[in-house]
Amino acid sequence: MLGGRHAYKGTWAYGQTMRVVIVGGGINGMFSAYFLRKDGYEVEVIDRSHSGKTSVFNAGLLTPALPPAEVNISRAFFDREGPLHVSPSVMMRNPAWLLSAARGGGHEGDMAELGERSLKLYRKFFKEESVEADVADGVVAVYKDEGKARDAAAAHGCKFLSGPDLREMGYAGFGGGALFRKNMAVNPPKLFDALRKKLSETGVRFVTGEEADLEVERGRVGAVSTRSGRHAGDYYVIAGGSWTTSLCRKLRYNPRIIPARGLALLFRAGGSKVVSTPALLEDYGAAVSQHDPDTVRATGFFELAGFDEGIDGGKRDWLRNILAHHIEGSGNLELAEEGVGFRPCTPDQRPVVGGVPGHPNVFVNSGQCRLGMTLAPVSGHTVASLIAGRKPDGVECMDPARF
Ligand SMILES: Cc1cc2nc3c(=O)[nH]c(=O)nc-3n(C[C@H](O)[C@H](O)[C@H](O)COP(=O)(O)OP(=O)(O)OC[C@H]3O[C@@H](n4cnc5c(N)ncnc54)[C@H](O)[C@@H]3O)c2cc1C
Repeated sequence: MLGGRHAYKGTWAYGQTMRVVIVGGGINGMFSAYFLRKDGYEVEVIDRSHSGKTSVFNAGLLTPALPPAEVNISRAFFDREGPLHVSPSVMMRNPAWLLSAARGGGHEGDMAELGERSLKLYRKFFKEESVEADVADGVVAVYKDEGKARDAAAAHGCKFLSGPDLREMGYAGFGGGALFRKNMAVNPPKLFDALRKKLSETGVRFVTGEEADLEVERGRVGAVSTRSGRHAGDYYVIAGGSWTTSLCRKLRYNPRIIPARGLALLFRAGGSKVVSTPALLEDYGAAVSQHDPDTVRATGFFELAGFDEGIDGGKRDWLRNILAHHIEGSGNLELAEEGVGFRPCTPDQRPVVGGVPGHPNVFVNSGQCRLGMTLAPVSGHTVASLIAGRKPDGVECMDPARF
């Protein structure tokens, strides 16, 4: 029993502080660090990048009410021109994964509940830590077909918005929308930077620009090695995003995570208000939000095509055409930055958060797929609780032992 060894959270019975080494400094690694540090652990985060990738190049919508089932992976088999795509090599290498994904995830209710808990943790975090991340309240799901918008509004118990209502928000050519008032949007790089700064201030040590590898001896992780040396801990958290599967290989554990690539475009808006409320453009699987008078973000694509970081001009144009067509003020937008991110996806579209089977001192926190930003606080909180020997309710659906 883990908890028995703890005199007080984060401290051994003989008074020495426990150390946790986290591999992966994306949003999930960082929220794990946040809650572990709050519990009194000494924490070190190792990441081979300096700036984060997926946790920066995403839409930043915190939307537990919009379930992952809306990413219908089975459509991707047939839809080569649209936002969903599976490459032939991924198809050949992962037939069982794709088959389970096409069958659908189930557990949408559990995931929505976890998402709601995560939003509460986000609100508390923003309030307690005075973190500024351009938080916007309310997200609207928009549809060309008014009937679909009415159905979505009724199914989720939220307000229906008409085409003219959406036009006032800056969106044109849609039949209707469903307004999720309690959902939020953030500016991902701002949150990323603020969180990293806050963690550094509280004593979390960051080792960046170094590839990490687990040292496993006689079935037990003894340290994480990087170019600058060995990093030993009492516990280890693997929060490697889409790379978690390869990191876990030495543990003989397969979390079955593969990457789903997406594209983020950032535009300068030149001080004009282009859209007033963040939106999911459901017909295109795209998202749009404006963080401040000068920054508009658009994201799209869900491509199971490996770790290709190249940006395809055709895809960029596809997304820009959607903006030109549906965003009234798109004429004011000037492309400023672009990047790809990799959503860490499991075949059942559920995260993998908890103890790694057969390794009592190793925990995994990944697999949140398209809800990685939304679920980061609840996932980090779960890992910290499990390490301290507390078993939170309602987290069984994320149990790594299911694979
Ligand atoms: C286009 C797009 C839009 C999205 N929109 C949303 C959204 O609106 N809402 C939402 O909730 N989610 C969204 N997501 C999903 C979300 O961004 C991801 O689920 C989330 O960022 C994953 O975070 P992570 O910390 O698990 O992984 P990552 O951010 O990928 O971090 C993992 C880190 O581990 C490091 N790492 C891996 N292996 C090693 C190693 N061996 N040594 C050292 N470091 C290593 C990597 O460098 C990386 O920084 C979107 C994703 C994309 C691509």
